[in-house]
Amino acid sequence: MLDTAADLVLPRPCPGCGRAGPWCDSCAATLAGPPRRVRPPDQLPDADRLPPVWALARYSGPVRAAILAGKEKGRRELPTILGAPMGAAIRQLHAWGSVREPVWLVPAPSRPSAARRRGGDPVHAMAIAAARTAATAGLSTGVAPCLVTRGRARDSVGLDAAQRQRNLAGRVRLLERAAPPPGADVLLIDDVLTTGATAVAAARVLRAAGHPVAGLLALAGVPGRPAAR
Ligand SMILES: [Zn+2]
Repeated sequence: MLDTAADLVLPRPCPGCGRAGPWCDSCAATLAGPPRRVRPPDQLPDADRLPPVWALARYSGPVRAAILAGKEKGRRELPTILGAPMGAAIRQLHAWGSVREPVWLVPAPSRPSAARRRGGDPVHAMAIAAARTAATAGLSTGVAPCLVTRGRARDSVGLDAAQRQRNLAGRVRLLERAAPPPGADVLLIDDVLTTGATAVAAARVLRAAGHPVAGLLALAGVPGRPAAR
């Protein structure tokens, strides 16, 4: 109770740098600018099946701190804040001809219990905010939360690429009722591209159901990975 009351009265610090929040201008600047192509992570099995990947930043500094705060510290406002620059990036991808309108955003699958424990799926919330930003700017954009992880898939934190691949093989499933219209361009949305194994599994399931996968847009790519466009 006391924590909640304090939150209501005191502004919470910027999750990126600790200054006055909720997300300060200098941290927001790390996500401004066009999305950048990210090379496939090293040692990714089936790297040729990875769709084009773009990211707004490297997974370091304020961006990393904000993603972790949204996932683990209950900062429920963060996915919405972080979704706005994603929406601007989607407009840029459309301007480049990298995605066709209408753009259907498909959040990367998250294990239901993991999402519950974190108080909702932050990637889904981020995709909704991104779609809203893109739509406000005139781009026809929808969100199709149609991928789920079923069965015994473990939460992927701490697994390497090969372990993730085994963990996910056959366990990413398409929910037909939430799928985008047949033939519509799909853009996968994730917070962090780490090993790429989730993206490969997700793209495989979508393509098998007849949905062209234009690419994956992540807030952040792996740390230290040079991005080139
Ligand atoms: Zn900041």
